[in-house]
Amino acid sequence: MNIEMTSKRGAIGESFLAREFLARAEVQLGRTKLAAGRRLARAGAVEWLDVTAGHVKGEVTAAIDGTLTHPQLDFGPRGGNDIDALIARATRDPHEILAVFAGTYDIADERELESEGLALLPSAELPLSFGCTCLRWPDVCEHVWALTLAFTEHIDRAPADYLALLGLDVEQLHLTEGESDGSSATVGPDPHVETRTRFDPARLESEILVRAMGEEAAALIAAFYAEAKREGGTPPTETKGQGPGDGSRTD
Ligand SMILES: [Zn+2]
Repeated sequence: MNIEMTSKRGAIGESFLAREFLARAEVQLGRTKLAAGRRLARAGAVEWLDVTAGHVKGEVTAAIDGTLTHPQLDFGPRGGNDIDALIARATRDPHEILAVFAGTYDIADERELESEGLALLPSAELPLSFGCTCLRWPDVCEHVWALTLAFTEHIDRAPADYLALLGLDVEQLHLTEGESDGSSATVGPDPHVETRTRFDPARLESEILVRAMGEEAAALIAAFYAEAKREGGTPPTETKGQGPGDGSRTD
């Protein structure tokens, strides 16, 4: 089952997180083979992609002879201390992490996390690297770019996978009020009882989300997880077809 790109032409990725990830990938990987990779991705050549901590792996059908290649994008994962710090941060102030889920994560959020050494986007300190089974390696190839572009759209569809790539399991987040520090961020039936509530999609419509992000974004998240639940617990990977791509765009 191949991955159909949402964007048939123009920019790829909708959220700041997705677009900025792609922009930084262009800087770090170089734009060589980007156009060829985009043609492949829009032709549906990316068969699947799989996200684990530190790796995006995929299968791409080569353009010429249809052979299968296995490109890979390596990013992170962050070390245990960083993950603990991210979890602590999310517990103290879930705003940035919730924004990732809502697709509203922006440059201000990134700078905020960056100031604590916890930036989510690729940088000199947290670089991207890649591999591929084709003969072009160690140079970047169109398969790596096709995978990168498919992953860029995947970030918008399954933002939790972006955090998983960094090594942060959403289940590790305890989006509850911490100590009595005056924070009003509370998830749980009784704000006076300190609970260590796991990240429960069923609670996503609670006030904390509305307060942190506004009603529209909270509704978006709720819809996202409702969809994920229908799909069997994981966010959907593929989107339904929107007609064949022309794959002819150049820039
Ligand atoms: Zn390759």
